[in-house]
Amino acid sequence: MTQPFWKMKSLQQMSKTEWESLCDNCGKCCLIQLEDEDTGLRLHTDVTCKLFDSHQCNCTDYPNRKKRVPDCVILNPKNVHELDWMPQTCAYRLIAEGKELYDWHPLVAGNSEAIHHAGMSLRGRVVSEEDVSPDEWEDRITEWPGEGDEEGSGIVVVDEGEDEGEGEA
Ligand code: SF4
Ligand code: SF4
Repeated sequence: MTQPFWKMKSLQQMSKTEWESLCDNCGKCCLIQLEDEDTGLRLHTDVTCKLFDSHQCNCTDYPNRKKRVPDCVILNPKNVHELDWMPQTCAYRLIAEGKELYDWHPLVAGNSEAIHHAGMSLRGRVVSEEDVSPDEWEDRITEWPGEGDEEGSGIVVVDEGEDEGEGEA
């Protein structure tokens, strides 16, 4: 039986179409993250980049994301190994670390709804940075399913969105 492409190819070997299809559209890479000044631990909030659509669970201007949001990190086969802040459930991170995709991943489940039904995406559960004052971000620290439990104090903003890069998020 033929193995699916993500088991047969490295990230570097994937075509553009295969690479893009690997994104599960969880949206977690579009969350604003905070960092504990003392421990360096990163914490997720439930606040997203201004271009993220909570209902569609995707970037509203994916082709122009870098122009619109300079801090948006375009993921590629090289930098995926260096971006330790990527969500633990991110398909690119999993493949880069030699792990299996989850059964709710669109390519495994065979549909794009499984991830939402499994509660592993941001759909309908986040607010835009345009609707929440930065002063309130620390109060919106959220532990998302599949992500580590990181607690701390002395929090500073480190990233606002990221990815989706070729693999949007
Ligand atoms: S892909 Fe980038 S620009 Fe688009 S919503 Fe996510 S972080 Fe923002
Ligand atoms: S690139 Fe972003 S949206 Fe795509 S799988 Fe990774 S974390 Fe999820």
